[in-house]
Amino acid sequence: MEENPYENLVNGQMAIIGIDLGTTNSLAAVWKGARGALIPNSLGELLTPSVVSVDGDEILVGRAAKERLISHPSLTASSFKRFMGTKKVYSLGRKNFTPEELSSFVLRRLKEDAEVFLGSPVDEAVISVPAYFNDNQRSAAKRAGLLAGLKVERLINEPSAAALACRVQEEESSSERCLVFDFGGGTLDVSVVECFENVIEILAISGNNRLGGDDFDRIIIDCFCRETGLSLAALAPENAASLLAQAEQCKRLLSEDANGSATILLEEGGIFSFNLTNKKLVEAATPIFNEIAVVVRRALQDSETRPLQLDRVLLVGGSSNMLTVQKYLEGLLRTRLLKSGPPELLVARGVGIYAGIKERREDIRDLVLTDVCPFTLGVAVRNKEDPKRSFMSPIIERNNILPSSKTHRYFTASEYQTQIEIEVYQGESLYCDENLKLGSLTINVPSAPKGVEGVDVRFTYDINGILEVEVRSDVKTMRKLFVDEGNPMSQEEIERRLKELMALKIHPRDKEENRLLLARAERCYAETSGSLREQISLALRHFLRELGRQEERSTRNARERFAKFLDQVDWSRDQNAYFEDEG
Ligand code: ADP
Ligand code: MG
Repeated sequence: MEENPYENLVNGQMAIIGIDLGTTNSLAAVWKGARGALIPNSLGELLTPSVVSVDGDEILVGRAAKERLISHPSLTASSFKRFMGTKKVYSLGRKNFTPEELSSFVLRRLKEDAEVFLGSPVDEAVISVPAYFNDNQRSAAKRAGLLAGLKVERLINEPSAAALACRVQEEESSSERCLVFDFGGGTLDVSVVECFENVIEILAISGNNRLGGDDFDRIIIDCFCRETGLSLAALAPENAASLLAQAEQCKRLLSEDANGSATILLEEGGIFSFNLTNKKLVEAATPIFNEIAVVVRRALQDSETRPLQLDRVLLVGGSSNMLTVQKYLEGLLRTRLLKSGPPELLVARGVGIYAGIKERREDIRDLVLTDVCPFTLGVAVRNKEDPKRSFMSPIIERNNILPSSKTHRYFTASEYQTQIEIEVYQGESLYCDENLKLGSLTINVPSAPKGVEGVDVRFTYDINGILEVEVRSDVKTMRKLFVDEGNPMSQEEIERRLKELMALKIHPRDKEENRLLLARAERCYAETSGSLREQISLALRHFLRELGRQEERSTRNARERFAKFLDQVDWSRDQNAYFEDEG
């Protein structure tokens, strides 16, 4: 990192960073030295787990928080992005947080890391979201930015970012049609993208925001339980957490060797061991693969693309590392897969580049990015047969290119009615009650026999996911913006909450390494018993004493020794050696 830290600033302007706010991991990037540069966190790692934990009055974010999933599960939250845009409340100790507030802590940490990396303050970000995110989820992502002290003018769909990164990275300029397969921890996004010269156009997107690598972890755990006769719900909490961690580890090991095998060991009133191969995993995960096929086929169908027309398939997201997933895709699409570097970093690279575009950097200014509407937007119309179940009348259909503006005319359905209520829905179902209601708008019309008076309804949807509805009758025109309906928060509320959240201290960045070690030690302590547990306790107290002396050098030495010790503990646990230790 010898580069000039100020090089990124354009004429003294503040830098805009790009953030891949993931369900499992998050990562920030900037446009730097004519390429997207990934920003390491205080631990020198690129991925920061999207995990938040409360420790007294302090908030922990990232790996230290992730360690506490095992030692302090009730104070720790993960995978909250799955609930973005909902009213779910996480109670961590005495504090309550919404998913967007938890996300704001992750964003704040990434912002700090970026500021250290760039050597200058950062106040604006472009954030990527799954293409499948609906309006509520998109607004929640923006509010999360605001709550982290970041201006967020742009959101970008993750697949668009990934495609962008690939093109720029490989200096590819020929025309091609690609399928972007983004398989993360909690979401699957599949898109068909057409690229020519400097234009990237998304033809169709399809996805499932409830399908990801976590599901493989769960299936591995199910297999373990079936084979050992144990039940996850009945396990001691620390064993349950350890099982989860081991299942994920298994999955990663199997991504390294198609013919390898991996083992899970658990001590719960006896020692239980379980062996897994890729073959066994494929059999157990059939429902996941079927679901993947549904999503892939829909993207192809919506874009009227036959598999043979695909020039390549871009692998994106951590779960795309899985050999079983790659093999399945090859079989399904019969086409070349492209892994452009580690797939879990690709989206962030793209968002970093996009942040550069937003900054209007000379070197990439020409690039044009078109996006599509990820879902259908429409209004409710009368269902004569079953008046309680209104039909959805689409105005802007899924996969329309954005920004998009469309008008439809609707007529009165009752004799001499004087008002028309326009109910706005989003979703793919024929019936409104199965779609998401965004809100409604009522307009007066002159009294007349049914079918005579009408209104023009114009929907305008932009790339930031804001829907403007304009309703025009002969007597009046009304306009309404649909952004925050699902979880409305006024400007004052945001400011008040911003103050409250900013008052919460996020654990100091420069002490992060120490904090991680302490959290790791607590996790090891929770996982072990007997004399090893005592040794951990002794070592931990020794380390705390050294920290208390506040001397830079002795702290560093103590940290190194303590880390080595914990490595040994983890190693011996993996080797199952400590079972003998207890004797
Ligand atoms: P997200 O975008 O959802 O935050 P990521 O793209 O970081 O997630 O992917 C996280 C998922 O990828 C997790 O389920 C993790 O277990 C899985 N993963 C990461 N690396 C590997 C690997 N080498 N093999 C198998 N799975 C992996
Ligand atoms: Mg992702």
